[in-house]
Amino acid sequence: MRDLPVEAPQELWPDHATTILAGAALVWAWKTAGLPGWPSFIRWFTPGAKQQQLGMFDEETRNVWLSTDLRGDELLRTIGHETEHARQYHRREGFSEGYAIAAGERFLGKWSQRTTDLHAAAEASGISRGPTQRLPFPGPDDDAPADHLAHLRVLEKRAAAARSAYSFDRGSA
Ligand SMILES: [Zn+2]
Repeated sequence: MRDLPVEAPQELWPDHATTILAGAALVWAWKTAGLPGWPSFIRWFTPGAKQQQLGMFDEETRNVWLSTDLRGDELLRTIGHETEHARQYHRREGFSEGYAIAAGERFLGKWSQRTTDLHAAAEASGISRGPTQRLPFPGPDDDAPADHLAHLRVLEKRAAAARSAYSFDRGSA
């Protein structure tokens, strides 16, 4: 059996925006990889001398383990990477690190494209995308302009707009 990491105590988990992004990205990665059902949980481990890896897929529980150091692009790459290991396991293709590295890179590109598409759809529907909000990513990612959670805000705005348009159209019926 695989040597799984020790789960980090909750106070060492990443900030809220990062955990939300990780969950949304993992569910979408799972779906786009053609895997059935849903992934199980994301579990966080702190990087250390024995934990050189950024992530790990546990085929027994379908948990995806992620390093608490991951942020931004590197977080998305790792989620794509571990989801490819899940796909390899599901298809009984055997373990390929090369494919997983390539899949991580592809997933990052797909996620960025999806965010761009959702912005375009929101603009085409006449809903302002509003000011770009910075994510509270500390450290080296601080200068990155990427807004990986933009799609969630766009979806929220679309849902809110759909509701108000409906009540306006229907009057007080
Ligand atoms: Zn790997």
